[in-house]
Amino acid sequence: MAATPANPAHPANPVNPEHGRIGVGVLGYGNVGSALVALLAEQQTAIAKRTGMNLEVSRVGVRSLSRQRELALDAQMFTTDALSVVNDPATDVVVELIGGVQPARELVLAALRQGKPVVTANKELLANHGAELYETADASGVDLLFEAAVGGGIPLVRSLRESLAAEPVSRVMGIVNGTTNYILSQMTEHGATYSDALADAQALGFAERDPTADVEGFDAAAKAAVVATVAFGAQVPADSVYREGICGVTDEDIAQAERLGYVVKLLAIAERVGYVNEKLGLAVRVHPAMVPVHHPLALVRDSFNAVFVEGDAVGELMLYGRGAGGRPTASAVLGDLVDAASNLCQNTCTPIGSLEDAVICSINDLESEYYINMEVIDEPGVLAAVAGVFGQHGVSIRSMEQEGLGDQARIVFITHTATERDVQATLGDLRELDSVRGMPGLLRVIGG
Ligand code: NAP
Repeated sequence: MAATPANPAHPANPVNPEHGRIGVGVLGYGNVGSALVALLAEQQTAIAKRTGMNLEVSRVGVRSLSRQRELALDAQMFTTDALSVVNDPATDVVVELIGGVQPARELVLAALRQGKPVVTANKELLANHGAELYETADASGVDLLFEAAVGGGIPLVRSLRESLAAEPVSRVMGIVNGTTNYILSQMTEHGATYSDALADAQALGFAERDPTADVEGFDAAAKAAVVATVAFGAQVPADSVYREGICGVTDEDIAQAERLGYVVKLLAIAERVGYVNEKLGLAVRVHPAMVPVHHPLALVRDSFNAVFVEGDAVGELMLYGRGAGGRPTASAVLGDLVDAASNLCQNTCTPIGSLEDAVICSINDLESEYYINMEVIDEPGVLAAVAGVFGQHGVSIRSMEQEGLGDQARIVFITHTATERDVQATLGDLRELDSVRGMPGLLRVIGG
């Protein structure tokens, strides 16, 4: 059955007179934008058969017309005036694949205010300006869909928003950055050093020339903010997410983890921690962690992503797949595009709803088990002094192993559950001991 676009709430939104045709304005023709245009061309007939809608690219916004690229569309459809793509009466739905905050924010807001649904893959934009954009979309009665912003081709956002809409989710924990997972996998499986693994990832195109956003955890933190917002219906700005990258993970940590039955992974974790001053309390953080080898996340190798969801009713479930790459990401974008177009035709949308004003707890108040690895002078009384510092801060030791290194020794501790505050105070005092050499290494340990 052919669909007729109609959006009477927004007379400014040009309703396309051609029966069933939905004009798609694409902003950005890079990795994802060009893959989307190609995938749409491949799937156009199948989508039309299934939905009655004929999705057609109206125009494409790019930064430079002189850039060498393969064009799957007539060159006349490209413009550097991205706002004209949004404003074009032939554009019914806008797909934002530029990335970054500006001009993406202005363009998305302009589209939403005109009653044009928006599909975006832009985690940075959502993590920093999500509340404003969600409100604008809801006020305009149109969709703002962003499946591809977290986990690329993995259908995580829709699962959380729809399938798990009534589920009391307690924790979402995942590997959401393929670059760092690739680096850690190389260190674990091939004994590579951090810098060799990074160089390898860059040579293979998994890491940018400037890898800061990935290896320092900024990318994962933005995704954690978006996931937490969706999973808990709460405002979680990017700057409230605790963030630690993988630069400090040594080959020694990787080897110790393996010996102890763990794998080191960069995790994004968002969890409910009860109520704080009658407000929903959330803990949202990104850091490397020791994951037990039998945990499903330990099996996620190379540049793959996976997200482990825990809910009171559903129990545990995991979504796994390609977290990046033009085609997997375009697949998620196209799924959103079909939804947004279909909702537009039916003059409906899937609202985000009002977001709770949650309290994002400080990492210092959170509890975990910890792995601590330190080198000390190997002489009588040192171990007692070190153990004494743990005791002073009430940090109880679950296991301790000592290895001789000539006139020094390596001591590896796993603590019982302790607060971050107490463990950091312990580390601070340990650094002051004359017998401790260098900086003790620390990793949080995830329970099995
Ligand atoms: P990209 O390859 O860098 O492409 C960006 C595109 O935006 C380019 O075509 C560029 O034009 C265009 N652009 C930049 N500034 C513009 C402006 N002011 N006006 C109009 N167009 C402009 O980026 P990408 O990898 O496709 O990523 C796009 C989005 O998807 C980002 O939000 C990213 O986080 C997200 N995402 C990407 C992946 C992935 O695997 N790549 C995965 C998940 C999510 P020119 O071509 O002329 O330079």
